[in-house]
Amino acid sequence: MVTGIEQREKALQGSQVEFSTIFDNAPVVMFLVDSKRRMRRANQATIEFAKRQAKEIIGDRGGEALRCMHSLDNLKDCGFGDFCKTCLVQRTMLDTFETGEGHYRVEAQLPFICGQKQQVSYILISTTPMMVSGEKMVLVCLEDITEMKQTEHVLRESEYLHRITLSNISDAVFMTDDTGTFTYICSNVHVIFGYSFAEVQTFGCISKLLGSDILDADELERLGEIKNIEQEITDKTGRLHSLLVNIKKVSIKEGTILYTCRDITERKLAEEQAHQAELFHISRLNILGEMASGLAHELNQPLCAILSCADLCLRATAGEIKNIDRLNENLRTIETQAERAGNIIQHIRALVKKKNTQYSAIDVNDLIRKTLCFIDTDIRRDEIKLSLELSEQMPKVTADPIQIEQVLLNLLRNAIEAMADTDIEKRSLIIQTTRDSENVVKVLMRDSGDGMTTEVEKQLFNPFFTTKPDGLGVGLSISYSIIEAHHGEFWAKSNSDRGSTFGFTLPVAKTQIFAL
Ligand code: ADP
Repeated sequence: MVTGIEQREKALQGSQVEFSTIFDNAPVVMFLVDSKRRMRRANQATIEFAKRQAKEIIGDRGGEALRCMHSLDNLKDCGFGDFCKTCLVQRTMLDTFETGEGHYRVEAQLPFICGQKQQVSYILISTTPMMVSGEKMVLVCLEDITEMKQTEHVLRESEYLHRITLSNISDAVFMTDDTGTFTYICSNVHVIFGYSFAEVQTFGCISKLLGSDILDADELERLGEIKNIEQEITDKTGRLHSLLVNIKKVSIKEGTILYTCRDITERKLAEEQAHQAELFHISRLNILGEMASGLAHELNQPLCAILSCADLCLRATAGEIKNIDRLNENLRTIETQAERAGNIIQHIRALVKKKNTQYSAIDVNDLIRKTLCFIDTDIRRDEIKLSLELSEQMPKVTADPIQIEQVLLNLLRNAIEAMADTDIEKRSLIIQTTRDSENVVKVLMRDSGDGMTTEVEKQLFNPFFTTKPDGLGVGLSISYSIIEAHHGEFWAKSNSDRGSTFGFTLPVAKTQIFAL
């Protein structure tokens, strides 16, 4: 018959076997230390960690057994060196001996020698007080978290690197799930969009920032990536930006989509300006062709005058004419007419040359009169009644004379062409200048031509818009750009009776503003 004592012993033996099995096979370092901190029992994981035989480490102090660098250095043995006073492994064990309280997963470091090198293991130490055969002992568990720490460190470094990179580039980066809801918003989002990080967060989804048409989900599904989407967006201040957007499916999580946005507004502007500059040049050459006949006529006048005066002078020197005053007068006429011819030629050269804007203070009335010289022949040929209503009190304006002359020529040419089918007696062109305000001068050109339909009016300033069979459709768009670059306004409207009026403003030169 089995007694109660035997039953208890059996149960005890059973639980000891259970404990031993768990202890020996536990995947964490587990050992028992006595009050002198000598290792009394160590499991398989401890033996592997210490890289020594079980019999070699039993009886060693904990530090020695685990190859702690300081215990090997110190003759006084583990637990008494200077470092040991601060060693968390030691202190945790000691505390459990002194207070009888256990500790759970205290993070500590264990410096040890591995071959010639020193290494540090990051560990989590847990201690439990135990009575073994009436002796106070402490069960120590060490979890080696070195690899986890190193991975964490590498991850933290790479995360830091990514964060620094993302916040220092001017591109904006976002991630969304497959419904477009933000899962990542770059911290520099304000650079392009003007909205703060928090504001974008409240938007919730990418379509509020990039527009609902930004993603073609089927195409992304098919290609995995959509590159170089040009998208126009309005920032917080209402400014329009051109963006180049790349969209890519990434495998961070099922359905994650990466958006990178580059602001190409400046680049587009530069391209546009280069295009405009090219148009200016084309237009100048075009105008030049049309002016060729006018030029021949213009040069003909001074050249004829020079010829006849030179003839008179020759006759005077041959003794045919005695009047010396007459001779002088003829020589002066030769001089002024030669100057005039020279000016005309210089003018044409300046117009053909592709050069940068050169602002100066100019008299608009003078410029209008000079420009009319180039188109004078056409006006007379078409019998157009020209009226100049140029204000006497005109201040100078800040402008590039060559460019404004180009605007005037475009308008004059268009007005003349618009009146081609108008009855001769009704053909009239009025050019008016006024000081519109303290800072602004206004130029109006009113013709009595065909006028414009509302459809034409809407498209007038679009490049290459023309209603003429041989038209280029660049004159008005170039003129518009020129006036805009001069900080002026440019407009056109149909007259209530017949024809159209084109107008533009120019800023009064600074030195003239107070001369009202
Ligand atoms: P183009 O003269 O080569 O057509 P423009 O840019 O100078 O190019 O003019 C564009 C269009 O604007 C013209 O084709 C014409 O339809 C219209 N337009 C310009 N000026 C006038 C005007 N004074 N009266 C009526 N229509 C005009």
